Amino acid sequence: MGGDSILIRNARLVLPEGILEDVDILVEDGKVTRIGRELEPPRGVDVLNVEGKLVLPGVVDEHVHMREPGLEYKDNFTNGTMDAASGGVTTVLEMPNTLPPVENRKVLLEKAHLLASKAYVDFALYGVIHDGNIDEFEEMVYAGAIGFKIFLGPTTGNIPAPSDATIYEALLKSAKLKTPIAFHAENWSLVKYFTEKVKATGRMDPKAHMDARPPICEEEATIRIAYYAKKTRGIALIVHMSALEAVEALRKARSEGVNIWGETNPHYLLLSSDDYDKYGTLMKVNPPIRSREHQEALWKAVLDGTITNIGSDHAPHAREEKEKNVWEAAAGFPGVRTLLPLMIDQALRGKIPLTKIPELLSANPAKLFNLYPKKGTITIGSDGDMVVVDPRSETIIREEDFHSKHPLSPFIGWRLKGRIEYTILRGAIIARNGEVTGGPRGQWIRYTPKTS
Ligand SMILES: [Zn+2]
Repeated sequence: MGGDSILIRNARLVLPEGILEDVDILVEDGKVTRIGRELEPPRGVDVLNVEGKLVLPGVVDEHVHMREPGLEYKDNFTNGTMDAASGGVTTVLEMPNTLPPVENRKVLLEKAHLLASKAYVDFALYGVIHDGNIDEFEEMVYAGAIGFKIFLGPTTGNIPAPSDATIYEALLKSAKLKTPIAFHAENWSLVKYFTEKVKATGRMDPKAHMDARPPICEEEATIRIAYYAKKTRGIALIVHMSALEAVEALRKARSEGVNIWGETNPHYLLLSSDDYDKYGTLMKVNPPIRSREHQEALWKAVLDGTITNIGSDHAPHAREEKEKNVWEAAAGFPGVRTLLPLMIDQALRGKIPLTKIPELLSANPAKLFNLYPKKGTITIGSDGDMVVVDPRSETIIREEDFHSKHPLSPFIGWRLKGRIEYTILRGAIIARNGEVTGGPRGQWIRYTPKTS
């Protein structure tokens, strides 16, 4: 427990509320104890001068699939959290579709125990909810589940899609315990229908996958979840949003005061259907990357606050699973390492204000999952989780920099503005210039509801 001490000198501190010029940040025993000017280091505390550099809160990546246990041939938690540390991510929220699926208290505790010794960054765990385990909801929350995932279609681990009644009841429980539920929002019946139609034409081009999952699949599911969230006052997060129609549904629900949040991922903002010829199944994800019209709607939603969160949807697969034809290739790729560098680059190019980066990647995920202000910001009492970025340097994304077993990312070779110099977890430098320093010091983070 506890943590390290460090004095950060002359930071340009970037927070959602604004940018503070030339401040010092003192972290003692892992916690931020002072923010001010010309602070003196207590005896024995190291000083890190970051003049000219940006300091941001460590990223809280709310959406990672690290594949352990059960799917280690794809990747493992050690590699995944090393990539997180290298990429400025200090907390990861790990999805439950590992093997066995995290569907009860016992599996949750076993997974937490297994991962605790391998974590290079702090982590929290999701549980999964399906028709067979809704009665486990409360026990999993009190055992430490940070939230739940509901897959409206089948996924890795063959977790069956739940009925509307299960979704409704899960959101009722969410309202009571203030535990958010993340939804993979695609109507499975519609996905099957359109997939069969497109397959029947004999198409094998990479864009066939996009046409097999048109926006209506995502729009209908988003509208349905928003409706149940409204009726129950539950807390819903629509993950990996890709379609402008779904974003419209989210905007409408949020304007009505529904407690619904929206996440998108860098690949939907930076790639479009124009890129399928270049990247092929490397950029196959669910829901699919769509046309520029959708991409522009997502940027607009990011800027106007409709999209509240940006996560990575880090989802590594083995090379042989990715290098298949368009219908059989696995969906997803590793992203935890590239999430912050890609978004910093967009800010330094003027596409988005710098202050939106800590809002979307750190503060909002932490607020949604009841981790704020321990995580997601830099204020007195927060964990000393920080990223130091040199805005005048640059980053080239290289295959050899990934710790992932199968570094198959469309972003390899991209040249970005800005460079992550240090990642700091509870006062300790855990990565320097992309190199992980020290051992696995990550902790399991829980949230216990205050209700009796
Ligand atoms: Zn995912």
